[in-house]
Amino acid sequence: METTPSVPRTLLIVDDTPANIEILSSVLEAEHQILFATSGRDALELVASQIPDLILLDIMMPEMDGYEVCKRLKADPKTHNVPVIFITALSEEADETRGLEVGAIDYISKPISAPIVKARVRNHLELKRFRDMLEDLSARDGLTGIANRRRLDEFLTQEWLRGGRNQSPLSVCLIDIDFFKRFNDRYGHAAGDDCLRRVALALASVSRRPADLVARYGGEEFVCALPDTDAAGAALLADRFREAVIALGIPHADSSIAELVTISGGVATAIPTGESAAAQLLEAADRMLYQAKKAGRNRVLTPPEEALHC
Ligand code: GH3
Ligand code: MG
Ligand code: MG
Repeated sequence: METTPSVPRTLLIVDDTPANIEILSSVLEAEHQILFATSGRDALELVASQIPDLILLDIMMPEMDGYEVCKRLKADPKTHNVPVIFITALSEEADETRGLEVGAIDYISKPISAPIVKARVRNHLELKRFRDMLEDLSARDGLTGIANRRRLDEFLTQEWLRGGRNQSPLSVCLIDIDFFKRFNDRYGHAAGDDCLRRVALALASVSRRPADLVARYGGEEFVCALPDTDAAGAALLADRFREAVIALGIPHADSSIAELVTISGGVATAIPTGESAAAQLLEAADRMLYQAKKAGRNRVLTPPEEALHC
């Protein structure tokens, strides 16, 4: 496994006493990049634009104490994975327990010992790196490197809720490679795998919005989830997916409809409601995919109505 201990990680030190920040900085600045904030509010504002790898947080601060800052960091999906270490003069068992209960990963008492702080920070950063790596691996398809079904399900659940809140359309495009069994039979499984990788990359390069997700749904099927995209936009993109796969120019001598590898696609769009779930949107896209196959393949179909109200 790759280890990159020399890459500086970013630490955020939060303390209302600048002298304390200076002491901690002097201990840690040789190995890490340091950000600092002198109040809970400043810290929360800062992490909204730059997420650090680890936070060293004082507990006793005026206005918003460290417990509250930690609670808010843990409640926000963008920062809940950032480890928080409390550095504080409070040393009662109850203080330490409360700190750990609001989500801190460790607790260091003041006055600090330089070697202990250094070692603990190093250990927690290393653990964080492994957790990030595991999380990334568990969300990726092993063959193609794009998002896997698990990640897609998570993404759709989240986007369904968001779309419902904002009353904005969510579209999905379900894509299936045409005559792929014959491709494997003729060119072999290794070539089949290679074809899947190339198709995945082509799809991922068509959808350029950072909000979109392209995932391998299973075997030779892919799903492109398109938040804030209406039926017309999704149809346009779906056709670009189809063209991008043809442009790969992968020969398929046994296809009944072309000399190259082609895909069929089904699109569905909905403005999410609480009465239904993203699974129904996928089912609707699957019905359109079935129609696209029946109508001759190498095409993408969208439902006749503008947007389903699932
Ligand atoms: P259609 O045009 O109707 O979609 O026909 P098809 O042959 O593509 O569909 P079918 O569902 O009958 O076959 C899918 C094939 O995809 C079966 C299998 O050979 C191939 N396949 C599924 N997963 C993988 C994989 O991970 N690697 C490879 N090489 N092939 C796979
Ligand atoms: Mg299939
Ligand atoms: Mg197929």
